[in-house]
Amino acid sequence: ANFAPLTLDAARARLRELFGFTGFRGRQEDVLARVLARQSTLAVMPTGAGKSLTYQLPATMMHGTCIVISPLIALMHDQLRSARANGIRAATLTSADADWRETQDAFRNGELDLLYVAPERASQQGFRNLISAAPLCMFAIDEAHCVSEWGHDFRPDYRQLRPMMNAFPDVPRLALTATADAHTRGDIMAQLGIPDDGLVIAGFDRPNIRYAIDHRDSVSRQLTNLMAAHPGPGIVYAPTRRKVEDIAEKLAAATGRPVRPYHAGLDPEVRQANQAAFVESEDMVIVATIAFGMGIDKPDVRFVAHVGIPKSIEAYYQETGRAGRDGDPAQAAMFWGAGDFAQARQRLGELDESRQQSERTRLDALAGLVETPGCRRAVLLRHFGEDPPERCGNCDNCIEAPAVADVTQLARKLLSAVYRTGQSFGFGHLAKVLTGNEDERVRQRGHDKLSVFGIVDGDDAVLLQPLSRALQARGSLVSTEHGGLALGGDARDILTGGQTVEMVMPPKRARRSGGRGRR
Ligand code: ADP
Ligand code: ZN
Repeated sequence: ANFAPLTLDAARARLRELFGFTGFRGRQEDVLARVLARQSTLAVMPTGAGKSLTYQLPATMMHGTCIVISPLIALMHDQLRSARANGIRAATLTSADADWRETQDAFRNGELDLLYVAPERASQQGFRNLISAAPLCMFAIDEAHCVSEWGHDFRPDYRQLRPMMNAFPDVPRLALTATADAHTRGDIMAQLGIPDDGLVIAGFDRPNIRYAIDHRDSVSRQLTNLMAAHPGPGIVYAPTRRKVEDIAEKLAAATGRPVRPYHAGLDPEVRQANQAAFVESEDMVIVATIAFGMGIDKPDVRFVAHVGIPKSIEAYYQETGRAGRDGDPAQAAMFWGAGDFAQARQRLGELDESRQQSERTRLDALAGLVETPGCRRAVLLRHFGEDPPERCGNCDNCIEAPAVADVTQLARKLLSAVYRTGQSFGFGHLAKVLTGNEDERVRQRGHDKLSVFGIVDGDDAVLLQPLSRALQARGSLVSTEHGGLALGGDARDILTGGQTVEMVMPPKRARRSGGRGRR
């Protein structure tokens, strides 16, 4: 809205003048260079990286108003306040505003740097007419993953943005998001008309967070150990309200530390009080459903634990990202079981056809993180489009490389047993058949007459459980409605010899009783 020269030097001067900052952070500069050159861009940056500045700053330098699309009114009003506090001329046009006339007049008179609107405005002719009445400098699309069905938060209104923006072919677009895997990124760029070379991805790494992922055996013991290692504040995510209550009670009793529950079923006052107490505390552990954490500002969280699997790698990154915001060492621990993946895969069946594929891809990616014998951080960062070093030195697998073995033969035996028993029995029954246990139920079904009866012996028998878990994680085994196991994914390729199976080996007994709790 001004007539400053559109250079990075000018932007830096404006940064000091308006925000009082000494320099750009991360890849802000790359985004700004493109924006100032009026090139459409998708900026993928983690929360807190400073995305807002990449449109707020140029909006004060370029001729015309920047239209900011934002999905939540509350968020918009926050942004409005902070923009105005920095001396930026900004307004919102939302159902919660009473000053529409003033805002429209200000826009028409070219007195606004930023105009925040919700995506549903895009389809309204009145709004389109309004923004034709004065020059625009760009469209900034916040939470841009909402345009993609591949994203985790699809909003149909975002699909109206493209036709609206197409009416202004000379106005550059800046799409912003904190979470976008490769697939979603491609989709955002296609949906919003951003050229292939318009992608800027910035630093997702949180080097002070140590990632560790382990099988769940005794969750109270595992969490108690974690708490003993971290006397500072922590968050434990549990899948259901009941588990939240149960775990909170057990941990309080076992450790004597302050432990409080948090879930949507609690009285709002209790919930509020627990959250406030946590934010204040230096040693409290909060056990919560994923309802907890959004917008909480607590820099000294020392660990985040997941009991069960998160929804996706994006969710995992976001939830674990609440640890160690102060930059001091922090821990992210996940305790998973085979049933977690089996149930998640079963729930896919309840989704619309169109969502199933994207959710399956999400689960496969998560299984890849959980099952990898390699560096966890490398898997995470690659997922977000970065090109990290092979090893980070600060995750469980880098600190102590797990043993990996080719278990293709055993996998074939297990999958054959699943197939020959009719794909309807659970793991317990299958293990009995394979190890030759003449259980009554086995004999009744005639499963002692099958060729797979008793084909797995001693040493291999202890691997059946972790193998079943690994096969469920990768989708080669899926659970049926009645809790049995059936063939899925690449099971047939494994059976016919076209696919090998490698697995992270479980720890030897001795190591486990040594209290390491690692695989
Ligand atoms: P995002 O939208 O990516 O989550 P914000 O735009 O809310 O992040 O910025 C996060 C914080 O970082 C804000 O307090 C902002 O003022 C600050 N910030 C942004 N850019 C810089 C910078 N170049 N130098 C210092 N602080 C910055
Ligand atoms: Zn690592």
